[in-house]
Amino acid sequence: MIRARAPGRVNLIGDHVDYLGGAVLPMAVDLGTSIEGRRGGKTVALESDDEPGPLRLPLDVTDPAAAEPEWGRYVAGVVAEMAPTVGFVGRVSSDLPIGAGLSSSAALEVAVALALGFDGDPTDLARLTQRAEQRASGVPSGIMDQLVIGAATAGSALFIDCGTLDHHPVAMPDDLDVVVVHSGESRTLAGSGYATRRAEVEAALTGVDDGPITGWLDRIHPADVGAVADPVGRRRARHAVTEHRRVADFAAALVADDRVELGRLMAESHTSMRDDYEVSTPVVDALVDRLQARSGVWGARMTGGGFGGCVVALTEPGALDEGWAVHPAAGASVSAA
Ligand code: ADP
Ligand code: MG
Repeated sequence: MIRARAPGRVNLIGDHVDYLGGAVLPMAVDLGTSIEGRRGGKTVALESDDEPGPLRLPLDVTDPAAAEPEWGRYVAGVVAEMAPTVGFVGRVSSDLPIGAGLSSSAALEVAVALALGFDGDPTDLARLTQRAEQRASGVPSGIMDQLVIGAATAGSALFIDCGTLDHHPVAMPDDLDVVVVHSGESRTLAGSGYATRRAEVEAALTGVDDGPITGWLDRIHPADVGAVADPVGRRRARHAVTEHRRVADFAAALVADDRVELGRLMAESHTSMRDDYEVSTPVVDALVDRLQARSGVWGARMTGGGFGGCVVALTEPGALDEGWAVHPAAGASVSAA
C-alpha cells in the first residue's frame, strides 16, 4: 500500500511575481490531500471522496485538458508529464477546501506524482507538476505552489527565489496566527485575467530589461519603471518590482518579529494588487479593510491569483473567529507499507 500526502499552501506575500523570477514567501498548511492505493496494471484508476465520478486513464495520455471527469485533468497532466510505466489504483481524500485558493489543485498534482513513484528532488517535482497544472488548466501559472508543497519545513514559511528556485525556510513565530478567510467570491475569471496580466507585465518589463529571467526583478529598480510609456504596463511593472522587494523586507521582519512592519508590508502589498495589478475585487477589498480594522490583527491582504478567492491575515492568537486558522506544515511525503 502506497500513501502519498501533500499539503495545501497559503502565500503570505509575493503574488504575481513567481512567473517573473521574483521572490515569494508561501507557507505549506496543515490541511492537505492524500492518495492511498497500490501500484500496478496499465491504467491510473482513482476515485475521490470530494469530486464525482471514477477516473481511469491510460499511461500514454496525450491531451490532459480533455480528461473526464473534470478533476481528472490535473491527474492526467501529471501522468502525461511523468509517463509512468506502471499504473496505480487508489483513492483521493482531502481536508483542504477545494477551489478556495489553498491550492488543492497543486496538492493533488504533487500527491499523484509521489503516488506514481516520482523520483527526484523537490525542485524537479515542482517543475514537473507546474507543467502538469499548466497543461490541465490552460493557465500559464508559476511554480510557487508546487515548490512550497514539495519543499516546505514544519514551523516555517518558505522563501523562494523563483528565478533560480533557490529556497530556504523562514521560521514563523509560534504565537502569530495565520488565518485564511474566503471572500465568498469564486475565482471564475481567474484563468483569463491571469494570462492577460502576465502578458502585460512581461511586455512592460521586457521594454526595460530584456535579459534573462534570473535576477530580472533585482535588476529593474522601482525608479526604472517610470520609463514604461504605456500607463497600464507601468502599473503592472510597478507592482512586480515593488512586490519582489517587499518579500525580502517581509522575511526580515519575520526574523526580527516586527509585527507592525509585517502589517505595513501586507497593506502595501494589497494596495499594489488592487491599484497597480488590478487583480482584487470590491468584495475582497472590503474584507481586507474589515480584517485590518479588527483588534489583534497585524495585517491582511489578498492572497493568490486574485479575482476573488481568499484573504490572509496575521493575528494575535485567537483574535479571529472566522476562516481557517492554518499552521506551517512540512512538505509532501510518501510511504509504502
Ligand atoms: P484551488 O487550487 O485553489 O483549490 P483550483 O480551481 O485551482 O482551486 O483547483 C480545484 C480543482 O482541483 C477542483 O475543481 C478539482 O478539479 C481538483 N481537485 C482538487 N482537490 C481535489 C480532490 N481532493 N479530489 C478531486 N479533485 C480535486
Ligand atoms: Mg489551484
